[in-house]
Amino acid sequence: MTPLDCQQCRLAQTRRNVVPGVGTGQSGLLIVGLGPGYSEDLVGAPFVGPAGRLLDRILASLSLEREDVYITNLVKCKPENNRPRPDEIEACSTWLAEELEELAGKATVAILLGQFAAGIAFPGLTMHAANGLFTMKGDLVWTATYHPAAVLRGQPALYPEILRTFARATALATSTSSEN
Ligand code: URA
Repeated sequence: MTPLDCQQCRLAQTRRNVVPGVGTGQSGLLIVGLGPGYSEDLVGAPFVGPAGRLLDRILASLSLEREDVYITNLVKCKPENNRPRPDEIEACSTWLAEELEELAGKATVAILLGQFAAGIAFPGLTMHAANGLFTMKGDLVWTATYHPAAVLRGQPALYPEILRTFARATALATSTSSEN
């Protein structure tokens, strides 16, 4: 089975397209969002809607090529009301684990976007507490920041916070990969 023919949870019944991760990870960076929204479900690629355009702006401001960053989501199928349930996240975690294995030796720093994804590395912390923290787990350094969609939903003050965490993660990924 691949993510494309996955039937492991109820989202298989309502999705238009599965949205697997994209990118080479060559920059050393891995980004984990929440799950596909309307546009991503239509197109079958992650972060191609409004939040994706903001993500593109963030990456461009750090001189990162989008193709060099591995971009994926906690769940690969559009969740109801854009909010995956715990059993959907659990069912999909096998795909994320597989992606992490494939990125071993390439990606060094993972940026978790939003409260749900932040739970991977910072379980039990609020988004506010987890924002900007860094921790080592497995082969990766993990950090978390607010989801860019929150900026679009009326919280523009979060944008500099997101940028700051991305900038620190990028500097770390760059210095770690130049050591190799
Ligand atoms: N929000 C996400 O978390 N992921 C996407 O792919 C798009 C929007």
